[in-house]
Amino acid sequence: MTKNWILKTVLLCTLFILFSCQKEKAKPEIKTYRAGVILSFDDAYVDEWFDTDQKLKQYSWKATFCVCKINTLRHYEIKKLLEFQKEGHEIAGHGLHHYHAEKFVKKYGIKDYFKQEINPMLRLMSFYGLKITSFVYPYGGRNPKLDAALLNVFKIIRGRAFCEEDASKQGCYFNHSKIVYSFSIDDTHNHFNIPHLMKLLDYAKKNDEILILNSHKTVENVTADYQTKNATLELICKYIRCNNMKFYTLSDLDNIQ
Ligand SMILES: [Zn+2]
Repeated sequence: MTKNWILKTVLLCTLFILFSCQKEKAKPEIKTYRAGVILSFDDAYVDEWFDTDQKLKQYSWKATFCVCKINTLRHYEIKKLLEFQKEGHEIAGHGLHHYHAEKFVKKYGIKDYFKQEINPMLRLMSFYGLKITSFVYPYGGRNPKLDAALLNVFKIIRGRAFCEEDASKQGCYFNHSKIVYSFSIDDTHNHFNIPHLMKLLDYAKKNDEILILNSHKTVENVTADYQTKNATLELICKYIRCNNMKFYTLSDLDNIQ
């Protein structure tokens, strides 16, 4: 009789502990930040970006302009970049020559990569008064050794995401690391279309995620590859406003755990 009672008690305790553990595991993750979007723009389409900014200012939008070939820009273009910075947009580095980092390093080594592509870019951007803390890989070409070397100089690095049909499997959400990946919203990008973009935005909203997007030249009407319609950007701005989401810049991610 006593033995039976002890056995019953042990069994009940075990069940209770098991149940408690499962409950602990199922606890949802509490996010300390709001759902949002990072809109990043690559290369050097300063005039087009400036026109887009005039249209989208009404939405209090924030962009990250990832600039390459700073040495080829005219004085008036540098002034526009400084105005962006003053308005709260971020200017990021995208290489002095826009070299494919991984291919360059394979051929010439990492020391030459910094000597030709990174250090002169940072010197010139700092001379102009541009504060650079993020870097974006041209063509998304990267490897872990390059990531580690560049993270000695930059706080956040952005590559390009692999494309998946399923929104939840996309690698283009903030991943709590210093290396993040973006989804291209250029109009002729194979995987881009408005319903898919809406799926990505809905997923970010429902799961308190930060969606990272990239674009190149901003236009009213698409005439070639690497162009994003201003209408697409306006749609994103409206979505963010309607759903009480937030615009982030790449460097904002450095302050989020
Ligand atoms: Zn580029």
